[in-house]
Amino acid sequence: MKSPFDNAEFAHLVAWRHKLHQFPELSGEEAETAREVVSFLADTRPDQVLTGLGGHGVALVYNGAEAGPTVLLRCELDALQIHEISDLPYRSRVDGKAHMCGHDGHMTMMAAVARHISRQRPARGRAVLLFQPAEETAHGAEAVLADPKFAEITPDYAFAIHNMPGLPLAHIAVAAGQITCASMGLCIELTGKTAHASMPETGISPATAVARIIDNIKTFEAGDVVAKGFRRVTLTSVQMGKPVFGITPGSAEIRMTLRTPESNAILGLLDNVLEMVGEVAAQERLSVAHSTHNFFRACINDADAAAAFDEAANRMNLSRVTDYVPIRGAEDFGLFGSCSKSALLFIGSGIDRPMVHNPDYDFPDELIPVGAELFIGVLDQLLGMPRPGDPSLDGIK
Ligand SMILES: [Zn+2]
Ligand SMILES: [Zn+2]
Repeated sequence: MKSPFDNAEFAHLVAWRHKLHQFPELSGEEAETAREVVSFLADTRPDQVLTGLGGHGVALVYNGAEAGPTVLLRCELDALQIHEISDLPYRSRVDGKAHMCGHDGHMTMMAAVARHISRQRPARGRAVLLFQPAEETAHGAEAVLADPKFAEITPDYAFAIHNMPGLPLAHIAVAAGQITCASMGLCIELTGKTAHASMPETGISPATAVARIIDNIKTFEAGDVVAKGFRRVTLTSVQMGKPVFGITPGSAEIRMTLRTPESNAILGLLDNVLEMVGEVAAQERLSVAHSTHNFFRACINDADAAAAFDEAANRMNLSRVTDYVPIRGAEDFGLFGSCSKSALLFIGSGIDRPMVHNPDYDFPDELIPVGAELFIGVLDQLLGMPRPGDPSLDGIK
């Protein structure tokens, strides 16, 4: 695999990825990671550095010599509340937190792009490298777009790459149109009354209601593949009563995730689920409250932006997986489509790699130059930024 990065530079980038991996920070708490990004990339001499974007977001801006479009490339700063199971020398040093979505790898791909730009500026327009906060909670993109500082860098085009276990290594999946579903977290709180375990009839236990609700949510599901009419309700957590023997439960919390292809359709699904929950709660004499969380809008790729990714992949002779998108998963990158021509591309992390968000997942370093070169290919088409000669990275595994 050819790459615009020589072996020493690749090793330097990999070492940085491993450093990021050891010090993960959760969504909204990425202060140190943001500082590390600014410091690691200072020698790439960005023309402008915006910090504190929508929280801890960082944008590095590289100007071309002539006027032209603004092209934003996005990666994510945040890690997950998962305890890493691994004997890697660079495993997370923070208990209960880990980069289990590969955002450490995405940041490193972006660092590789910055290194390339420091040698080969855009001919026109501006390249904006955005290190976005809080992707995992669906708050980051929204907060960045709402930040007044973002007006200075509002892009004409926006691009993101996400690694994807289950796809062959370095194979890509990209298309115009729908790429991800919309999703929303729903928490249902049921409240009754505890009782002495010898006299359960004097209490109001939510147990039957919990069982009925779990059973009923299946009736709202439709379709297996993402197409019009697809709906999915996934139970993620149930908590009821205390871990004791002498008291019957007086309250319960049920958490679930709702998914639909269209962002607006999820509100209809939410209404349907809440109506069912309300009926069950009334029949079981329980009071009910609910809250919604982490609303990810669907990600829809613009045709021109997707074509730019396509062309970049063609130049690299990358293999494609054609029937992969749209996926059921969600990504907050879709919001950038509200202000720009945007596209998200999935790149395979290998068939046998654990899925992202699993405790034994790790980003494959081989993807760093591949993802960086895809981004560089896009910048070349839109801003005129040809690659230098191609020192080979053959032999690096
Ligand atoms: Zn994730
Ligand atoms: Zn992710």
